[in-house]
Amino acid sequence: MVSKPRLSMYWASSCGGCEVSLVNINEKILDVAANFDFYFCPCLLDTKKKDVEALDDGGIAITFFNGAIRTEENEEMAHLLRKKSKLLIAFGSCAYEGCIPGLSNLHTKAAHFKSIYLDSPTVDNPQCIVPKSQTQVPEGMLTLPAFYEHVRTLSQVTDVDYSIPGCPPEPAQVWNVIEAVIQGKPLPPKGGILGAGSSTVCRECSRKKEDKHITRLYRTYEIIPDTEACLLDQGLICMGIATADGCGALCPKVNMPCSGCYGAPEGVLDQGAKMVAALGSILDIGDKKGMSEDELIRRIDMIVDSIPDYSGTFYKYSLADSILGGRRA
Ligand code: SF4
Ligand code: SF4
Ligand code: SF4
Repeated sequence: MVSKPRLSMYWASSCGGCEVSLVNINEKILDVAANFDFYFCPCLLDTKKKDVEALDDGGIAITFFNGAIRTEENEEMAHLLRKKSKLLIAFGSCAYEGCIPGLSNLHTKAAHFKSIYLDSPTVDNPQCIVPKSQTQVPEGMLTLPAFYEHVRTLSQVTDVDYSIPGCPPEPAQVWNVIEAVIQGKPLPPKGGILGAGSSTVCRECSRKKEDKHITRLYRTYEIIPDTEACLLDQGLICMGIATADGCGALCPKVNMPCSGCYGAPEGVLDQGAKMVAALGSILDIGDKKGMSEDELIRRIDMIVDSIPDYSGTFYKYSLADSILGGRRA
Protein backbone atom coordinates (compact mmCIF):
# COMPACT_ATOMS: atom_id res chain seq x y z
CA MET A 1 0.00 0.00 0.00
CA VAL A 2 1.35 3.45 -0.96
CA SER A 3 1.48 5.62 2.13
CA LYS A 4 -0.25 8.97 1.92
CA PRO A 5 1.66 12.26 2.34
CA ARG A 6 1.49 13.60 5.85
CA LEU A 7 -0.42 16.76 6.74
CA SER A 8 -0.06 18.61 9.99
CA MET A 9 -1.67 21.63 11.62
CA TYR A 10 -0.08 23.32 14.58
CA TRP A 11 -1.29 26.14 16.83
CA ALA A 12 1.10 28.54 18.43
CA SER A 13 -0.29 31.71 20.04
CA SER A 14 -3.74 31.36 18.60
CA CYS A 15 -7.42 31.32 19.47
CA GLY A 16 -8.34 28.03 17.79
CA GLY A 17 -10.48 29.72 15.15
CA CYS A 18 -8.07 28.64 12.42
CA GLU A 19 -8.63 24.97 13.27
CA VAL A 20 -12.35 25.63 13.06
CA SER A 21 -11.91 27.12 9.59
CA LEU A 22 -10.25 23.87 8.47
CA VAL A 23 -13.17 21.84 9.84
CA ASN A 24 -15.52 24.32 8.15
CA ILE A 25 -14.57 22.96 4.75
CA ASN A 26 -17.33 20.50 5.75
CA GLU A 27 -17.53 17.27 3.73
CA LYS A 28 -14.35 18.21 1.85
CA ILE A 29 -12.56 17.11 5.01
CA LEU A 30 -13.20 13.58 3.72
CA ASP A 31 -11.15 14.43 0.62
CA VAL A 32 -8.40 15.67 2.91
CA ALA A 33 -8.51 12.35 4.77
CA ALA A 34 -8.50 10.42 1.48
CA ASN A 35 -5.43 12.23 0.20
CA PHE A 36 -3.40 12.86 3.34
CA ASP A 37 -2.36 11.12 6.50
CA PHE A 38 -3.47 13.78 9.01
CA TYR A 39 -0.47 13.24 11.23
CA PHE A 40 -0.02 15.99 13.79
CA CYS A 41 -2.58 18.42 15.22
CA PRO A 42 -2.45 18.92 19.00
CA CYS A 43 -6.10 19.95 19.35
CA LEU A 44 -7.42 16.95 17.39
CA LEU A 45 -4.85 14.17 17.46
CA ASP A 46 -2.71 12.52 20.09
CA THR A 47 0.51 12.51 18.07
CA LYS A 48 3.27 13.93 20.23
CA LYS A 49 6.20 16.23 19.60
CA LYS A 50 8.54 13.24 19.89
CA ASP A 51 6.66 11.58 17.01
CA VAL A 52 7.38 14.61 14.85
CA GLU A 53 11.02 14.63 15.99
CA ALA A 54 11.33 10.99 14.94
CA LEU A 55 10.36 11.73 11.32
CA ASP A 56 12.93 12.24 8.58
CA ASP A 57 13.47 15.88 7.64
CA GLY A 58 10.80 16.79 5.12
CA GLY A 59 8.69 13.85 6.31
CA ILE A 60 5.55 15.98 6.49
CA ALA A 61 4.23 17.16 3.11
CA ILE A 62 2.39 20.23 4.40
CA THR A 63 2.18 21.97 7.73
CA PHE A 64 -0.47 24.60 8.29
CA PHE A 65 0.99 26.67 11.12
CA ASN A 66 -1.45 29.00 12.82
CA GLY A 67 -0.83 31.37 15.67
CA ALA A 68 1.82 33.97 16.34
CA ILE A 69 5.18 33.44 18.02
CA ARG A 70 4.84 34.61 21.61
CA THR A 71 6.70 31.96 23.61
CA GLU A 72 9.87 29.90 23.47
CA GLU A 73 7.71 26.83 22.79
CA ASN A 74 6.02 28.54 19.81
CA GLU A 75 9.44 29.26 18.34
CA GLU A 76 10.82 25.79 19.04
CA MET A 77 7.83 24.20 17.27
CA ALA A 78 8.20 26.61 14.34
CA HIS A 79 11.80 25.48 13.82
CA LEU A 80 10.94 21.79 14.29
CA LEU A 81 8.02 21.90 11.86
CA ARG A 82 10.08 23.88 9.36
CA LYS A 83 12.69 21.12 9.38
CA LYS A 84 10.14 18.32 9.12
CA SER A 85 7.85 19.90 6.49
CA LYS A 86 8.26 20.16 2.75
CA LEU A 87 5.80 23.06 2.72
CA LEU A 88 5.44 25.27 5.78
CA ILE A 89 2.40 27.50 5.39
CA ALA A 90 1.59 30.42 7.69
CA PHE A 91 -2.13 29.77 8.15
CA GLY A 92 -4.25 32.72 9.18
CA SER A 93 -3.55 36.23 10.25
CA CYS A 94 -1.76 35.40 13.55
CA ALA A 95 0.97 33.38 11.85
CA TYR A 96 1.03 35.61 8.77
CA GLU A 97 1.12 39.07 10.36
CA GLY A 98 0.70 38.78 14.15
CA CYS A 99 -3.03 39.59 14.27
CA ILE A 100 -4.64 40.40 17.64
CA PRO A 101 -1.76 38.92 19.70
CA GLY A 102 0.54 41.33 17.83
CA LEU A 103 -1.29 44.32 19.31
CA SER A 104 0.35 43.41 22.61
CA ASN A 105 3.62 44.67 21.10
CA LEU A 106 2.50 48.13 22.16
CA HIS A 107 3.34 47.16 25.73
CA THR A 108 6.20 45.47 27.50
CA LYS A 109 6.11 41.99 28.94
CA ALA A 110 6.43 43.49 32.44
CA ALA A 111 3.36 45.68 31.81
CA HIS A 112 1.37 42.64 30.63
CA PHE A 113 2.30 40.58 33.66
CA LYS A 114 1.46 43.49 35.99
CA SER A 115 -1.92 43.99 34.36
CA ILE A 116 -2.83 40.29 34.20
CA TYR A 117 -1.35 38.85 37.40
CA LEU A 118 -1.21 41.82 39.77
CA ASP A 119 -3.68 44.57 38.89
CA SER A 120 -6.64 42.67 37.54
CA PRO A 121 -9.62 43.21 39.89
CA THR A 122 -10.50 39.51 39.78
CA VAL A 123 -7.01 38.33 40.83
CA ASP A 124 -6.05 37.70 44.46
CA ASN A 125 -2.25 37.50 44.45
CA PRO A 126 -0.85 38.95 47.71
CA GLN A 127 2.57 37.38 47.12
CA CYS A 128 2.76 39.06 43.71
CA ILE A 129 3.66 35.82 41.93
CA VAL A 130 4.13 36.09 38.17
CA PRO A 131 5.07 33.23 35.82
CA LYS A 132 8.76 32.42 35.56
CA SER A 133 10.56 30.09 33.18
CA GLN A 134 12.04 28.14 36.07
CA THR A 135 10.69 27.51 39.58
CA GLN A 136 12.40 25.36 42.16
CA VAL A 137 10.02 23.16 44.19
CA PRO A 138 10.91 20.37 46.65
CA GLU A 139 10.31 17.80 43.92
CA GLY A 140 12.70 19.47 41.48
CA MET A 141 12.82 22.27 38.91
CA LEU A 142 9.59 23.18 37.12
CA THR A 143 10.01 24.83 33.76
CA LEU A 144 7.69 26.87 31.59
CA PRO A 145 8.45 28.13 28.08
CA ALA A 146 9.82 31.66 28.23
CA PHE A 147 7.30 34.40 27.46
CA TYR A 148 8.98 36.72 24.95
CA GLU A 149 9.07 40.49 25.11
CA HIS A 150 7.34 40.78 21.74
CA VAL A 151 5.09 38.81 19.42
CA ARG A 152 6.60 37.84 16.07
CA THR A 153 5.13 36.42 12.91
CA LEU A 154 6.09 32.96 11.68
CA SER A 155 8.24 34.36 8.88
CA GLN A 156 10.11 36.51 11.41
CA VAL A 157 11.48 33.35 13.04
CA THR A 158 11.78 30.83 10.24
CA ASP A 159 11.58 30.32 6.50
CA VAL A 160 7.96 30.18 5.31
CA ASP A 161 6.88 28.82 1.93
CA TYR A 162 3.46 30.45 1.68
CA SER A 163 0.94 32.40 3.72
CA ILE A 164 -2.84 32.11 3.80
CA PRO A 165 -4.35 35.32 5.18
CA GLY A 166 -7.59 35.80 7.09
CA CYS A 167 -8.85 35.73 10.67
CA PRO A 168 -9.58 32.98 10.11
CA PRO A 169 -9.05 32.13 6.43
CA GLU A 170 -12.31 31.56 4.60
CA PRO A 171 -13.05 27.80 4.32
CA ALA A 172 -13.59 28.08 0.55
CA GLN A 173 -10.11 29.58 0.23
CA VAL A 174 -8.64 26.91 2.50
CA TRP A 175 -10.14 24.26 0.26
CA ASN A 176 -8.84 26.02 -2.88
CA VAL A 177 -5.32 25.72 -1.50
CA ILE A 178 -5.68 22.07 -0.44
CA GLU A 179 -7.29 21.16 -3.75
CA ALA A 180 -4.48 22.85 -5.70
CA VAL A 181 -1.93 20.78 -3.77
CA ILE A 182 -3.92 17.55 -4.24
CA GLN A 183 -4.24 18.17 -7.98
CA GLY A 184 -0.59 19.18 -8.29
CA LYS A 185 -1.51 22.59 -9.70
CA PRO A 186 1.40 25.03 -9.98
CA LEU A 187 1.76 27.21 -6.88
CA PRO A 188 3.00 30.81 -6.97
CA PRO A 189 6.67 31.50 -6.32
CA LYS A 190 7.89 30.73 -2.82
CA GLY A 191 6.96 33.37 -0.28
CA GLY A 192 3.67 34.14 -2.04
CA ILE A 193 0.14 34.43 -0.72
CA LEU A 194 -2.36 31.61 -1.22
CA GLY A 195 -6.12 31.87 -0.84
CA ALA A 196 -6.44 35.59 -1.56
CA GLY A 197 -6.82 37.77 -4.63
CA SER A 198 -4.57 40.44 -6.04
CA SER A 199 -6.99 43.34 -5.50
CA THR A 200 -8.88 44.75 -2.52
CA VAL A 201 -12.07 43.95 -0.61
CA CYS A 202 -13.60 47.05 -2.26
CA ARG A 203 -13.26 45.29 -5.61
CA GLU A 204 -15.42 42.39 -4.45
CA CYS A 205 -17.86 44.56 -2.48
CA SER A 206 -21.06 45.33 -4.34
CA ARG A 207 -21.98 48.49 -2.42
CA LYS A 208 -22.52 51.67 -4.38
CA LYS A 209 -19.44 53.88 -4.28
CA GLU A 210 -19.49 57.62 -4.77
CA ASP A 211 -16.70 60.18 -4.94
CA LYS A 212 -15.77 60.24 -1.32
CA HIS A 213 -15.97 63.42 0.78
CA ILE A 214 -16.25 62.41 4.40
CA THR A 215 -16.93 65.23 6.79
CA ARG A 216 -16.95 63.15 9.96
CA LEU A 217 -16.30 59.61 11.10
CA TYR A 218 -18.65 57.42 13.12
CA ARG A 219 -18.13 54.40 15.31
CA THR A 220 -20.27 51.42 14.39
CA TYR A 221 -22.70 51.87 17.31
CA GLU A 222 -23.41 55.49 16.42
CA ILE A 223 -25.33 54.94 13.18
CA ILE A 224 -27.34 52.27 11.40
CA PRO A 225 -25.81 52.47 7.95
CA ASP A 226 -27.64 52.32 4.66
CA THR A 227 -27.40 48.77 3.36
CA GLU A 228 -26.61 49.67 -0.27
CA ALA A 229 -24.10 52.52 -0.03
CA CYS A 230 -20.37 52.20 0.65
CA LEU A 231 -19.79 52.21 4.40
CA LEU A 232 -16.75 54.44 4.12
CA ASP A 233 -18.86 56.99 2.21
CA GLN A 234 -21.16 56.94 5.25
CA GLY A 235 -18.30 57.79 7.60
CA LEU A 236 -17.55 54.32 8.98
CA ILE A 237 -13.89 53.33 8.82
CA CYS A 238 -14.06 50.42 6.42
CA MET A 239 -10.60 48.98 5.76
CA GLY A 240 -11.71 47.36 2.49
CA ILE A 241 -9.79 49.94 0.55
CA ALA A 242 -6.52 48.77 2.16
CA THR A 243 -7.23 45.04 2.48
CA ALA A 244 -6.56 42.13 0.14
CA ASP A 245 -9.62 40.52 -1.42
CA GLY A 246 -10.47 36.86 -0.99
CA CYS A 247 -13.21 36.75 1.64
CA GLY A 248 -16.03 37.86 -0.69
CA ALA A 249 -16.47 41.12 1.26
CA LEU A 250 -18.10 39.19 4.07
CA CYS A 251 -18.36 41.99 6.60
CA PRO A 252 -19.78 44.75 4.34
CA LYS A 253 -22.33 42.16 3.18
CA VAL A 254 -23.77 42.13 6.71
CA ASN A 255 -23.53 45.91 7.13
CA MET A 256 -20.28 45.86 9.10
CA PRO A 257 -17.12 47.64 7.97
CA CYS A 258 -14.17 45.49 6.97
CA SER A 259 -11.61 45.53 9.78
CA GLY A 260 -8.80 44.33 7.53
CA CYS A 261 -8.23 40.67 8.43
CA TYR A 262 -6.91 39.65 4.99
CA GLY A 263 -3.96 41.99 5.42
CA ALA A 264 -2.39 44.39 2.97
CA PRO A 265 -3.24 44.08 -0.72
CA GLU A 266 -0.59 43.01 -3.20
CA GLY A 267 2.20 45.57 -3.52
CA VAL A 268 1.34 47.38 -0.26
CA LEU A 269 4.03 47.25 2.39
CA ASP A 270 2.06 48.59 5.36
CA GLN A 271 -1.71 48.18 5.60
CA GLY A 272 -2.23 50.80 8.31
CA ALA A 273 -0.18 53.42 6.49
CA LYS A 274 -2.13 52.70 3.31
CA MET A 275 -5.45 53.23 5.12
CA VAL A 276 -4.29 56.43 6.80
CA ALA A 277 -3.12 57.76 3.42
CA ALA A 278 -6.46 56.82 1.86
CA LEU A 279 -8.39 58.56 4.64
CA GLY A 280 -6.19 61.62 4.31
CA SER A 281 -7.25 61.97 0.69
CA ILE A 282 -11.00 61.64 1.28
CA LEU A 283 -11.63 63.44 4.56
CA ASP A 284 -13.29 66.76 3.85
CA ILE A 285 -12.74 69.49 6.41
CA GLY A 286 -14.64 72.09 4.37
CA ASP A 287 -13.52 75.03 2.26
CA LYS A 288 -10.11 76.05 3.55
CA LYS A 289 -10.22 79.38 1.73
CA GLY A 290 -10.23 82.12 4.30
CA MET A 291 -10.17 79.59 7.16
CA SER A 292 -7.98 80.62 10.07
CA GLU A 293 -5.18 78.28 11.11
CA ASP A 294 -6.88 77.74 14.47
CA GLU A 295 -10.12 76.72 12.77
CA LEU A 296 -8.22 74.44 10.40
CA ILE A 297 -6.52 72.71 13.33
CA ARG A 298 -9.79 72.48 15.22
CA ARG A 299 -11.51 70.73 12.31
CA ILE A 300 -8.64 68.33 11.73
CA ASP A 301 -8.48 67.55 15.45
CA MET A 302 -12.21 66.93 15.54
CA ILE A 303 -11.91 64.23 12.86
CA VAL A 304 -8.70 62.74 14.23
CA ASP A 305 -10.12 62.63 17.77
CA SER A 306 -13.13 60.66 16.55
CA ILE A 307 -10.83 57.67 15.93
CA PRO A 308 -10.59 56.16 19.41
CA ASP A 309 -7.85 53.60 18.90
CA TYR A 310 -5.39 54.12 16.07
CA SER A 311 -3.48 50.86 16.42
CA GLY A 312 -6.60 48.78 16.95
CA THR A 313 -8.26 50.41 13.95
CA PHE A 314 -5.49 50.60 11.36
CA TYR A 315 -3.19 47.80 12.60
CA LYS A 316 -5.64 45.40 14.22
CA TYR A 317 -4.13 42.45 12.37
CA SER A 318 -0.85 43.68 10.97
CA LEU A 319 0.96 45.52 13.75
CA ALA A 320 3.66 42.88 14.36
CA ASP A 321 4.44 42.78 10.64
CA SER A 322 4.13 46.52 10.03
CA ILE A 323 6.86 49.07 9.52
CA LEU A 324 6.18 50.17 13.12
CA GLY A 325 6.46 46.65 14.49
CA GLY A 326 4.42 47.93 17.40
CA ARG A 327 7.29 48.85 19.68
CA ARG A 328 6.73 51.94 21.76
CA ALA A 329 9.46 53.51 23.85
S1 SF4 B 1 -5.96 34.19 12.70
FE1 SF4 B 1 -7.82 34.71 13.83
S2 SF4 B 1 -8.94 32.77 13.90
FE2 SF4 B 1 -6.81 32.27 13.39
S3 SF4 B 1 -5.81 31.86 15.37
FE3 SF4 B 1 -5.50 34.03 14.88
S4 SF4 B 1 -7.15 35.09 15.95
FE4 SF4 B 1 -7.74 32.94 15.80
S1 SF4 C 1 -14.90 50.84 1.63
FE1 SF4 C 1 -15.94 49.04 2.47
S2 SF4 C 1 -18.09 49.34 2.06
FE2 SF4 C 1 -16.97 50.75 0.73
S3 SF4 C 1 -16.70 49.62 -1.17
FE3 SF4 C 1 -14.88 49.24 0.07
S4 SF4 C 1 -15.34 47.36 1.17
FE4 SF4 C 1 -17.29 48.12 0.38
S1 SF4 D 1 -14.48 41.94 5.06
FE1 SF4 D 1 -12.48 42.41 5.89
S2 SF4 D 1 -12.56 41.84 8.07
FE2 SF4 D 1 -14.34 40.91 7.04
S3 SF4 D 1 -13.65 38.85 6.51
FE3 SF4 D 1 -13.22 40.17 4.73
S4 SF4 D 1 -11.11 40.90 4.99
FE4 SF4 D 1 -11.80 40.07 6.95
